[in-house]
Amino acid sequence: MSVAPFLPFARPSIDEATIDGVADVLRSGWITTGPWVRTFEQEVSALCGGRPVRAVTSATAAVEIALQLCGIGPGDEVITSAQSFFTVSNMIEKVGATPVFVDCELVTRNIDLAAVGRAIGPRTRAVVPTHWPGSATDMDALLALARSRGLRVIEDAALTFGTRFGGRFGGSFGDITTFSFHPNKNLTTIEGGALVVNDMAEAARVDVLRFHGIERLADGTRDVGFPGGKFNLPDVNARIGVGQLERLDAMLARRRALVDRYFERWSTDPACVLPPRPAARDDGCTWNMYCVLLPLDRLSITRAQFRDAMQQEGIGTGISYEALHLTTLGRRHGGREGLFPNAERIARETVTLPLYADMLDSDVDRVCEAAARVLATHRR
Ligand SMILES: *Cc1c(COP(=O)(O)O)cnc(C)c1O
Repeated sequence: MSVAPFLPFARPSIDEATIDGVADVLRSGWITTGPWVRTFEQEVSALCGGRPVRAVTSATAAVEIALQLCGIGPGDEVITSAQSFFTVSNMIEKVGATPVFVDCELVTRNIDLAAVGRAIGPRTRAVVPTHWPGSATDMDALLALARSRGLRVIEDAALTFGTRFGGRFGGSFGDITTFSFHPNKNLTTIEGGALVVNDMAEAARVDVLRFHGIERLADGTRDVGFPGGKFNLPDVNARIGVGQLERLDAMLARRRALVDRYFERWSTDPACVLPPRPAARDDGCTWNMYCVLLPLDRLSITRAQFRDAMQQEGIGTGISYEALHLTTLGRRHGGREGLFPNAERIARETVTLPLYADMLDSDVDRVCEAAARVLATHRR
């Protein structure tokens, strides 16, 4: 009997043409920020309706720059979801502002807009929603709320590059959007990220913020007025991004087909809480992850034991994500158990199942069968 290969929960898909293209960049003599970054930025900008795009070394750098671009710092509050990756609260804290957490919706995991409205106070400067795979945040409602209260909106679209909001490409409208091109995301540059901004003045400010704070003077010398970051993306990475963009639609379609199969084949007793079901074939949502909530109150095993059992079956799983208000950082801002029931329940029960463009249909079946077996064995 042959042993099935280990299935990781995420894995990048890099084609041979892109690998050859990277080798060409390495041989070219110019490997850091240069013509490939400009090409990559222009191609992403074209997807975003021509809005200015700036590539950086990560989504974390993009969020930090976005907050600085909005002039957010000490004394300011930024409203964000308690259910997201560490990036968001880390960067709010890093620029000297205070994160104000609100709960998310249980099934879509998107930020609770009514809770955002209640959390706005005199010091609030911005809202940072994280978009979750499979369901778009109601951006029309959030943007209208933000405009009426004079707030900036920084969309953390790390998980949703390629999502269309009622036909509009995420990043082609709104205020500021940040993307991640980490290897686990819909499109990768190894490490990398980007911000979409409103106009050339903001883009010029990002150029300064992402590169040491350097401004060029008329006499050809340079000046700095503040310590800027060092977040410029190398051309080697941008070349990968250009190769990935050619395959974006195909990779997203493949992820969608695999998710359709998860919905078809996933059947456990006791039942799990599943992500939102796709509304129609072309609902515009992207699927970077397929996360379920385990019915822990009906099981005799913990989540860690479930993950170990899946690992024994040769299947990798992840946790997306811990509750941000219950981290040590979050607790310093008043976070405690019971504040945000949905974010906390997700943090306790969630597991991320394997999903990536190169996965086979039979891999999905294998995951579904293994999970059903493990859950049935440990039912109580
Ligand atoms: C991955 C991720 C980030 C961070 O992306 P990096 O490019 O690794 O900095 C931020 N927010 C969310 C929701 C993510 O999933």
